[in-house]
Amino acid sequence: MSMLSLIDPEVAALLDKEAARQNSTLEMIASENFVPPVILEAQGSILTNKYAEGYPGNRYHGGCEFIDGIEALAIERAKSLFGADHANVQPHSGVNANLGVYQAVLQPHDTILSMDLRHGGHLSHGAKASITGRFFNIVHYGVHPETERIDYDQVEALALGHRPKLIVAGGSAYPRVIDFARFREIADKVGALFMVDMAHIAGLVAAKVHPSPVPYADFVTSTTTKTLRGARGGFILCRKEFAQKIDKAIFPGTQGGPILQNVMAKAVTFRIAGTEEFARMQAQVVKNASTLAETLSASGYRIVSGGTDNHLMLVDMRPRGMTGVFAEETLAKIGIMVNKNLIPFDTAPATVTSGIRIGAAAVTTRGLAAEDMKHVGSLMDKALTSASDERLLESLRNEVRQVCLRHPLYLHFGEGALI
Ligand SMILES: *Cc1c(COP(=O)(O)O)cnc(C)c1O
Repeated sequence: MSMLSLIDPEVAALLDKEAARQNSTLEMIASENFVPPVILEAQGSILTNKYAEGYPGNRYHGGCEFIDGIEALAIERAKSLFGADHANVQPHSGVNANLGVYQAVLQPHDTILSMDLRHGGHLSHGAKASITGRFFNIVHYGVHPETERIDYDQVEALALGHRPKLIVAGGSAYPRVIDFARFREIADKVGALFMVDMAHIAGLVAAKVHPSPVPYADFVTSTTTKTLRGARGGFILCRKEFAQKIDKAIFPGTQGGPILQNVMAKAVTFRIAGTEEFARMQAQVVKNASTLAETLSASGYRIVSGGTDNHLMLVDMRPRGMTGVFAEETLAKIGIMVNKNLIPFDTAPATVTSGIRIGAAAVTTRGLAAEDMKHVGSLMDKALTSASDERLLESLRNEVRQVCLRHPLYLHFGEGALI
């Protein structure tokens, strides 16, 4: 019996149910992934007991000699993995990493030019509901109505018109390669700083299956979750000249003591992300996503922008007469988890949407290959096409269970395998 089930059977029972749910469903929410068991070990460690305000070699608490070693490893590994001058590994999350950059270089009411949430941006890039939208003057760019790719000419025109202090690239629902060089050119033209939030694509960048923003951006922010496959947390990379400002902006600017078990998990994540095996898996993620996009497209769904270059796609359900919320709910019935998502220029409300966002990272971690993605695509189409046929849905649910049984969670890391 686990300690948890002895001391708190109520939460233990819910944890068991969640484990069974994760095991028996196909996780295709684009921001999710399964961390290696070693990350669970790091996060459950005694590091949670320690306070360590400050940075290695310069702390506000005693007894940090070993903590310093761990954080220094995380910093060095982040720098070397991504080829950056400086890394701060303390942000508690992706949003905190972004707040850190804003705190470091902006004054209240300064102008930020960033991607519209409705076109694939992120809440923390200045959405009205976010604190970032309240404190700064936000101007949004979006995608071109025909190509559904970032409209770089619009970005340039808006930059010239509004003279932003900071330009932000990156988002949560953009399926295409981002032209970081073009963004840099635009930023230079108007004297703006340039930040890339690579939260979704960090694993692909580490594996070199997506171009790196590091040579072009003044700041690169990210989560360690999502494609990077680490524990929940964030980090910032920056040029040497901003190192001190960034460190001050995280502590004491926007956070207190670092979550040290997460800092340790980040160190391990960066180590794993530098391996050949990790790079192979990220290449498979991209292949799996494009295979699924082709499969769905052949069944009459419209893939926004015509396809995907990364781990995710946006599917326009309208050609099949469906909404995003209908698709999300129907696929959940057969154990395939996706989320409804606004597509560019969507006229449906955010609670309904015309699209869904699908990601291939978590199922690839689980061991699914391109052939499996064709199978998954056909299961999706069958469920969506005959959503009122309860018996069919039950048999599709069983097929999903079979796929899950063939790819048990974690076991494919293999006997003795470390990652
Ligand atoms: C997920 C995400 C974040 C937020 O990360 P949290 O760890 O949830 O705070 C920030 N930016 C982008 C682009 C993201 O996709």
